[in-house]
Amino acid sequence: MTAILPGATIGILGGGQLGRMTAMAARSLGYRIQVMDPDPSCPARFVVDACFEGGWDDARVAADLARGCDVVTLEIEQVSIACLEAAAKYAPVRPGAGPMRIIQDRILQKKWLAEHGAPLGAWRAAESEAELVEAVAALGSKVFVKSARGGYDGRSQVKIGFGTQVPKSGPGAPEAWKLLGERPCVAEKALDLDKEISVMVARAPNGETKSFPSALNHHENQILEWSVIPSSVPADLEAHAQRVAEEIAAGLEIEGLLAVEMFVTKSGELLVNELAPRPHNSYHASDLACVTSQFEQAVRAVCDLPLGDVSVVQPAAIANLLGEVWLGENSEMREPRFDRALAISGVSLHLYEKHKPRKSRKMGHLAAVGKTPDEAVKRVMTAKELL
Ligand code: ADP
Ligand code: MG
Repeated sequence: MTAILPGATIGILGGGQLGRMTAMAARSLGYRIQVMDPDPSCPARFVVDACFEGGWDDARVAADLARGCDVVTLEIEQVSIACLEAAAKYAPVRPGAGPMRIIQDRILQKKWLAEHGAPLGAWRAAESEAELVEAVAALGSKVFVKSARGGYDGRSQVKIGFGTQVPKSGPGAPEAWKLLGERPCVAEKALDLDKEISVMVARAPNGETKSFPSALNHHENQILEWSVIPSSVPADLEAHAQRVAEEIAAGLEIEGLLAVEMFVTKSGELLVNELAPRPHNSYHASDLACVTSQFEQAVRAVCDLPLGDVSVVQPAAIANLLGEVWLGENSEMREPRFDRALAISGVSLHLYEKHKPRKSRKMGHLAAVGKTPDEAVKRVMTAKELL
């Protein structure tokens, strides 16, 4: 038997909201948890046994964390390979350095996906300004330029060709190259999206794999605004998305979770957007929607326990609460009216205990169940408006 049983200690590299909610699920299962994060008052801080202060490339602290753990996992893909390797001297690290090296670099990730036959939109890698100029010219009038490393929630991205003024406004390729810090990046043709979905796959070290029904995700300004499970896409598209996601998780030999973000274009194509080897914002509703939440599944997968049932028991949606909700019209602090939102039947609140609200910062989320996915979304958005 290789399972790491309750009572053991799980280490998490990263103590943001994903680490916090994973820790809470792990606690329910009877594990102890310690995290590493650059911020000693990170969201996980309040629910774990110990918090080690260390940056994403602080291999010494990662080793200190791992020394007291039976297994180590992560909640952010920016953790350096040196950290993962240092931790791996003391405890199994899941997912390991192999898949992380590929996923944490958008260029390597896209190359890997292309080589393994995953469906992708048109893209080019650029390692210099000249290469970016050429790539953008080849990709058409509207292009997303994304740093190879380090972005999230649309940060470290520049959109080209979206300006509304005639004849021309907004950055071109040379400006994008400078705005992104003159570092390697990928350029992607802007796709005409019908919808965005994601599939969360869990894969245990023994190879057992289970993927959740897909989530439907709505973004505003490149940040997830709401998400609902199930997605209600047609059965053939669902089967295709499941197959694509499971093949990627198997090919990468993921141990733990892998979220596969996908685009459905207006012409009906299913394309992979990007990968995240950890719990994902678009599966927060799994907590209410599915027999097993993504956080419990993460714990089961990294501890090599049997994976939980991923069936949907009721539709559920979440709406993210960004710092703006706390900031009034002139950026003065206001207290959101949680009492009003919680008065709606079926609505629940999750706050991450981040103390400083900032624009675009994810501070928490509202969740709601519904008889249908549509009803769940309407409910959660109504609750959010009441804040
Ligand atoms: P992040 O790491 O910030 O999540 P993504 O690559 O997922 O970065 O981009 C964020 C969002 O921006 C996507 O979910 C989608 O809404 C939009 N987006 C990104 N790339 C494209 C594209 N090539 N075409 C159309 N929309 C895109
Ligand atoms: Mg994304």
